[in-house]
Amino acid sequence: MGKIIVLDEHTANKIAAGEVVERPASVIKELVENSIDAGATLIEVAIKGGGLTSISVSDNGSGMDSQDALLAFERHATSKLTNADDLDGIATLGFRGEALPSIAAVSKIRLSTRSEGNNAGIQIIIEGGKILHSGETGCPKGTYIEVNDLFYNTPARQKHLKNPTSEAGHVSDIISRIAMGYPGISFQLKNEGRIALKTPGNGNLLDCVASIYGTDLAKELLKVEYNTDLISISGFIGKPFVSRSTRNHQSVYINGRYVKDKIISDAVESAYHSMLMVGRHSVFILKINTNPKLVDVNVHPAKTKVRLAEPDEIEYHIRKSVKDTLTSHRLIPDTDLTNNKPVKSLPDTGTDKKIEKGMGTDTASATQEVIEQFSVQTFKPATTFNLSEKPKYNIEKESYDNRRSENIHDYVRETNEYHNMNDTKTSASTFPELRTIGQIDNTYIVAEGLDGMYLIDQHAAHERILYETFMSREQDYIAAEQLLFPETIQLTNQETQILVDNINKLANLGFVLEHFGGNSFLLRAVPAGLPKPGGKETFLDLLDYFSQNRYTITDKTLKEKLLITMSCKNAIKAHDRLTQPEMEALISNLAKLKQPYTCPHGRPTIIHFTIYELEKMFKRVI
Ligand code: ADP
Ligand code: MG
Repeated sequence: MGKIIVLDEHTANKIAAGEVVERPASVIKELVENSIDAGATLIEVAIKGGGLTSISVSDNGSGMDSQDALLAFERHATSKLTNADDLDGIATLGFRGEALPSIAAVSKIRLSTRSEGNNAGIQIIIEGGKILHSGETGCPKGTYIEVNDLFYNTPARQKHLKNPTSEAGHVSDIISRIAMGYPGISFQLKNEGRIALKTPGNGNLLDCVASIYGTDLAKELLKVEYNTDLISISGFIGKPFVSRSTRNHQSVYINGRYVKDKIISDAVESAYHSMLMVGRHSVFILKINTNPKLVDVNVHPAKTKVRLAEPDEIEYHIRKSVKDTLTSHRLIPDTDLTNNKPVKSLPDTGTDKKIEKGMGTDTASATQEVIEQFSVQTFKPATTFNLSEKPKYNIEKESYDNRRSENIHDYVRETNEYHNMNDTKTSASTFPELRTIGQIDNTYIVAEGLDGMYLIDQHAAHERILYETFMSREQDYIAAEQLLFPETIQLTNQETQILVDNINKLANLGFVLEHFGGNSFLLRAVPAGLPKPGGKETFLDLLDYFSQNRYTITDKTLKEKLLITMSCKNAIKAHDRLTQPEMEALISNLAKLKQPYTCPHGRPTIIHFTIYELEKMFKRVI
């Protein structure tokens, strides 16, 4: 029989280190958070060998007096909590009093620190948790801590971490994320003596983000500002076209603390629904502030996970704040042909400028017809285009402003009416006023706006128009339309099983099938509005979708999948020739959508060439 013993403190610390100290980056996270809690405004980190050889963190915070400095390495020694009640509303990053003893247990530490009002500081040297030396030293106010030979006495852990380059990457990542949480603090990271990262610490989040992700990305970010009694949300989100293939450019802070929370990230991404291509992820830096009593941070040793008291409500507000931000901005990528990448974004001018539409001939009624053709269901009131007017288009810039002053009042009033009628926000007010010029390759519509040239992908644009029309229909079923000649469909065993399990769901979507013996079926009806020749193919696509997404599929996602297919199949194609009124109707319908800037698969519908860009290409400016 075994005998229960109480572990000595040294062993207990080594075990705790297994939880808190996973790798150099986690050591740095703890040390930097201590510096922040100590009120530092300047935090300098240096690493060698990816942090395995050495780490140093110096700060200009409060420092410690000699008694506290020694106590800090005792287990559960903290200055941040006085009793258990404090756990209900934690405002500091640390509170467990576990980090320093855990780190000390698995490394060789040198600490020097001095607090305000003390002439001398204290230096402490610890190896494997044992204090080897402590004594007075001269040092600036603040704390300097050096962690050498991390995991020297835990070879099993060390073996897992042999690549300094990848460890340095983790370090840089965690410092970036913490830094974006504290734009008022200047952070610096030196890797092997070279500056890898430096934030300005001027309190401006966008400057901080730009110093980390670069100014090209920072220019494509939209500011989020959202406040309710329960929650305030602020920060920046990327326009859909600056998406990334991973979620690495997503950071969430709850009450200042950087957290990894899938529920929150998913809520943000869901606000980008249908605006991102498959496998792409949005960029965001979002700060959520709420009553600390609603957030339990004491659920994970590294404190990167939280438990929310009102998850649904918080999720709702996050989604809404992001959605509102997206719909109130013009999300058109600017081209930069000379650098061959999307670049600067102009301020939103959608609501304060207006140019007139029309060709000066009586195309109004013809246009109206085409609108109806294109949109299947006629759209809600025109907001920016008055089709019965027959204005003359004049390209001279001076006259824009005259017209603007005449029309701006109507425009604002109409826009307001539109918004009142549909309480969901739309992008109508951000869409540029365009004059249609023509078609290139029977595929792209060329248009002129106040600020340069626009190209519109006619298929993508029409797809979005149809998608929003279909999606706005209230009913959750799709009417079936009988085929004149039923089609025979031969399925595999697996497909037959899926079909049999979901026959009612499919009937709700308009697919009516009849068993014909074995794995053969007759397709008798297809969704009304689906072009007939594509019925069988669409049905088989849907079955594939079923088998690939068996666990995540819902009635809603299934219906949407079908509506996207229907939008695609019904939309005008690339290489379809369009008349001038057709092009104009297409653009004017696009302009009225909730989200006109991407097709339902996330590809852009419209791109922009600035006048500056054109001037650069013609060498009018250098
Ligand atoms: P916690 O942060 O959970 O309190 P730690 O083990 O990280 O626990 O630190 C223990 C204590 O040491 C802290 O509560 C704080 O009083 C002190 N301390 C640690 N680092 C610093 C620092 N850089 N500046 C001032 N005080 C510090
Ligand atoms: Mg701490």
